[in-house]
Amino acid sequence: MWLQGCSGCHISLLDTGDAIAEVANAANVVYTPISDERKVPKADIVLVEGAVANEENEELLTLVRKNADTVVALGTCACHGGIGGLRNLHRLDQVMTRAFLETPSTADGVVPDEGVPQLNDSVRSVREVIDVDFALPGCPPPADSIARLLAGALEGSLPELPTHNLCEECSRLRQDMLLPQRGFICDEVRAVFELDEVDPELCFLEQGVLCMGPTTQEGCGAKCPTGNMPCRGCMGPTPKAREQGCKLIDSIASILPAGAIMYLEDVVGTGYRFSLPVSICPKPTEKKEGKR
Ligand code: SF4
Ligand code: SF4
Ligand code: SF4
Repeated sequence: MWLQGCSGCHISLLDTGDAIAEVANAANVVYTPISDERKVPKADIVLVEGAVANEENEELLTLVRKNADTVVALGTCACHGGIGGLRNLHRLDQVMTRAFLETPSTADGVVPDEGVPQLNDSVRSVREVIDVDFALPGCPPPADSIARLLAGALEGSLPELPTHNLCEECSRLRQDMLLPQRGFICDEVRAVFELDEVDPELCFLEQGVLCMGPTTQEGCGAKCPTGNMPCRGCMGPTPKAREQGCKLIDSIASILPAGAIMYLEDVVGTGYRFSLPVSICPKPTEKKEGKR
C-alpha cells in the first residue's frame, strides 16, 4: 500500500532480488499500488509505505487494518512521518499557498479544491493512526532488512529488530569523548566541507562535525559514516528515544558547544528531518488549541 511516500521503499523492496522472487513463488500477491484493483482485499500481510497526509490515505489505511492479519509499517515515513512530515511546521493554508501560488515556477496558480483528496491539517505516521504489527524504518529501509522480513513472514514469524543507536555499528574511533573532562572536545561545530581534511577513522563528533549517530536507530550498517559522511538520521529515533531532536542536543551537549548549533545548523531540519510528526513538537492544530 502506497500512502504519502516517494516510492523509494518500493524500490528497496525490488532490490531484495531473490527474496522478492521467493515471495512471488510462495505467496499470492493480491494488491499492489500499480494494480487496477482499487479495493483493499483481505490479506495475511500488508506492507505500507508512506505517511498519512490526506483523507484518502486515512481511509485506505483503516481498510488495510481491517482486512490484514499483519500490518508492516515499511520505511521511515510510515514509522515516524518522514521528510514529508516537515510540513507540520506550517499551517495547511500556508502550505497550499506556498505550493500552488508562490513557488517561482508557478504562473497563474490555483489551489485545487475539488476532484483530489483533501490534505489533512498535519502529517501523521502510520503508527499514529492504526496499530501496526511490525515497523521497519529507513529512508528507504535497507534491502537486506526487507529480505529478512519477507523470509520471516513466509515462515510465519517476524524478525527481531535492533534497538541500539547507530554508533553501535559504526567503526569510527571514539577517544576523547569517552574521557572525563571539563571542556568541549571541539570548540566549534563545522560542516564537512569546512574541514581541511576528514579523518576517515575518527568519529565525526570528535572532528566537530554534527553526526546523528547517537540519536538514530542502528540497522543500516552505518552506511554514511562508512562512506565518509555524517549520519543524517534517516532510520529515525531508537525505540527508547522517540524524541530525535531533543536526544540530539542531549547527546552532544557535553561534547560540542550545543549553542553554536543553533546558529550553524538548521536545527529542525537536522534533528527532526525524519521524525517531526512523532516528536513532542506540537502540530499546527495543536499549537492553535494550546495542546502539548
Ligand atoms: S521512507 Fe524515504 S524512501 Fe520511503 S517513502 Fe518515505 S521518503 Fe521515500
Ligand atoms: S557519532 Fe557518527 S561517526 Fe561517531 S560513532 Fe556515532 S555514528 Fe559513528
Ligand atoms: S548512516 Fe544515518 S543517514 Fe545514512 S543511511 Fe544510515 S541512518 Fe540513514
